[in-house]
Amino acid sequence: MASDGHVIWVKPFDPANHGSDTAGRRGECGWHGQTEKRGTCADKPFASVKLQYAGYAPVQSACIRALREISQRYGFPIPPESA
Ligand SMILES: [Zn+2]
Repeated sequence: MASDGHVIWVKPFDPANHGSDTAGRRGECGWHGQTEKRGTCADKPFASVKLQYAGYAPVQSACIRALREISQRYGFPIPPESA
């Protein structure tokens, strides 16, 4: 997967932030479910993260662990309430 994206925004998780037929809308952690191909993540989403890639800008649902991974990959600060 290309790592040339960046984070547009991070919000507290809300299924309404996510499109229909996505893990986020179903209340699942989409970052681990889709990005790492591990199957469904056991952790509940903590944040909704909008990412910008070359041709698209998905909103990912992210558990706390996923949020830390996204933070490391894209270099944005984690909101203090999740530290
Ligand atoms: Zn996860």
